[in-house]
Amino acid sequence: MRPDPLYARYPFLDAARAAVQEADISPPRLVTEGDPAVDRARERVERALMSGTVASETPERWSDRDELLSYPIARILVSLVDVRAAVEKYADAEAETAFERLRADLAADDAELRSVATPRADLPTFLDDFDLDGAVRRVADGSGDPGRDTFRIDVTAYLRLTDPDWGADWRLVNRDLADGEVPVASEELHRLLREAVRRRVASGLPFEVRGSAGGDALAAALDDDVTALRDRLAERERLPSVDTVAPERFPPCMRALLDRADGDLPPHSAFAATAFLVSLGLDADTIAERWPGLDDGDLSYRATVLADDGGGGSQYPAPSCATMATFGDCVNPDERCETIDHPRRYYAAAVADADRSESDD
Ligand code: SF4
Repeated sequence: MRPDPLYARYPFLDAARAAVQEADISPPRLVTEGDPAVDRARERVERALMSGTVASETPERWSDRDELLSYPIARILVSLVDVRAAVEKYADAEAETAFERLRADLAADDAELRSVATPRADLPTFLDDFDLDGAVRRVADGSGDPGRDTFRIDVTAYLRLTDPDWGADWRLVNRDLADGEVPVASEELHRLLREAVRRRVASGLPFEVRGSAGGDALAAALDDDVTALRDRLAERERLPSVDTVAPERFPPCMRALLDRADGDLPPHSAFAATAFLVSLGLDADTIAERWPGLDDGDLSYRATVLADDGGGGSQYPAPSCATMATFGDCVNPDERCETIDHPRRYYAAAVADADRSESDD
């Protein structure tokens, strides 16, 4: 498959999606064969959740085919993560990346910097793809510089794409509505297209992967990736930092694991307990002293890796409740557990409650 390079940059376009369908490529097969598109899909979602963009950090590593095929696989991953915040962040990151690329493409287009080597999107292609071709009219400003042109957009399309949260400038009463058209600046038209992209990407997400033909095997093959993405997301959601260590306030799962810690914890449980303690700022020596059962010979290495955040958040964040449950480590959940999604959030809330009741006394 040698896709149009434009589709690699804008894989949500209808024509790009049709190209994937025509190529009759099965995502389950790509996953089981370890296709590079799956690695790119993993990066695509992770970058979306952590950095708000889907642009690769190593673009030279990926072919146009990898880029294009990574999009449907990324949608599968996001569906399996199945957390609302992940869908929102992912759709927004796809839209933001498209918005940046489109702006650059149109600026180059206006300046007549088009080159064969870098295929660029043009406005008619985008408008047509989003059924806006008859709804947007370019108004030349007379200077001969297309970059200074403005646009008029059909009021129905304008109302459909704008959001009341965007502020007073976007309210219809503050626009010079005439003949059923609303004037918009070029940047504003790009913002509307960004919104159209965001909605298209979010549409249909998350979908049911399990239960469809090959879906269960696909979900099983992507299980580790889904777990890692959930954990990255939970960590990203600004877990509260707590600077006291009060084991009596630890969540039930951690109390159970630490009570059981006798050197025989399964690796995932030892990892979860160590990650939780390291996230509270404890080092290997302190952990070994207070919970000698965790000192299984690998503790020092484990704690070092867990504490090494490289400035961008630990590569192995403490597991979320969803991951704990997956591994059977969520035990004795109590009432507070119903209000949180991460053991650290449980602990922060328990410490805050205890502080509050002490100051009330
Ligand atoms: S719900 Fe979360 S915090 Fe509560 S016991 Fe389970 S894993 Fe621990």
